[in-house]
Amino acid sequence: MEEKVWDVLIIGSGPAGLTAAIYTSRGAASTLVLAGSSWGGQLMLTTDVENFPGFPQGILGPELMGKMKLQAERFGSIIRYEDAKEIKLAGVYFETRTDQASYKSKSIIVATGAATKWLDAPGVKELIGRGVSSCAPCDAAFFKDKKVAVVGGGDSAMEEALVLTKFASEVVIIHRRDEFRASKIMQDRVLQNPKVKVYWNTEVKEAKGENKLTSLVLVNNKTGEEREEPFDGLFVAIGHIPQSEIFKGFIELDEKGYVKVFDSTKTSVEGVFVAGDVFDFKYKQAVTAAGFGCMAALDVLAYLEEIGG
Ligand code: NAP
Repeated sequence: MEEKVWDVLIIGSGPAGLTAAIYTSRGAASTLVLAGSSWGGQLMLTTDVENFPGFPQGILGPELMGKMKLQAERFGSIIRYEDAKEIKLAGVYFETRTDQASYKSKSIIVATGAATKWLDAPGVKELIGRGVSSCAPCDAAFFKDKKVAVVGGGDSAMEEALVLTKFASEVVIIHRRDEFRASKIMQDRVLQNPKVKVYWNTEVKEAKGENKLTSLVLVNNKTGEEREEPFDGLFVAIGHIPQSEIFKGFIELDEKGYVKVFDSTKTSVEGVFVAGDVFDFKYKQAVTAAGFGCMAALDVLAYLEEIGG
């Protein structure tokens, strides 16, 4: 156990966690960020971010996160690449355990974000990394001149499909309804691309393949018609799951696992605040996560003042 008592311990290092760190360290609160063993959150898996204000030409996701991290460190935040495993209130301080150490803090900001949701269909999870992926920017190059499927109808699915068109010979978007929920601009880009085909009202029933994906069993949910079609790749882009497992029993979560907020960024436990996709199931944007990070940090600074620093 480290003897030092941090003013604030931030769990998570996406836009929410790092923005919070910029604000708390600039606010003279000693700040420890448990960044996780793979830091930076979902933007580390993205290529161009075109809608983060201040970058008119766009910026690469990992580059944006690198800048946020430098900015947090510039004001004194300490970043450790460790995963929080357990959090409890021990006397007047919170105690957060990782595999490497235990840390004491007066307050906590939960900013653990959300993770990929996978399809339940048989074969999908078994073939992850062997044709099945959730990250086109990471894996698209493996599918040069191949036929790939993207499942989903949101902006993520459109983005995955667009990245894949740069490599694959054919990109089939498989969507369970007859219209996308993605923004108009993203839909237009996808639908105008000659490599893209859409299978409407279609669901993946099974992913098949021994050592790598070879085909998908598809079902039309309007007609019930089922068929098997060869595919080399399957990119799943059907949303995310809040990363809140370790907070079960410590702070209140809703039935889907999102952290419940009570007043601005306050959670059910005094001194514990929340920011970003781990509670925000509505907006889920880098810029809103950063905004919530700022709010949580300001709430923490006020709380520290209240409890006497
Ligand atoms: P999303 O908007 O929630 O879309 C998820 C899609 O997956 C929906 O089309 C949904 O179908 C489908 N889906 C969900 N569960 C499914 C299942 N079990 N089987 C088959 N399909 C399923 O998620 P997202 O695309 O990850 O986007 C999340 C947020 O990030 C959004 O606010 C989005 O605007 C934002 N985002 C923005 C950008 C950008 O602006 N560049 C890029 C990526 C994401 P239904 O439509 O039928 O529900």
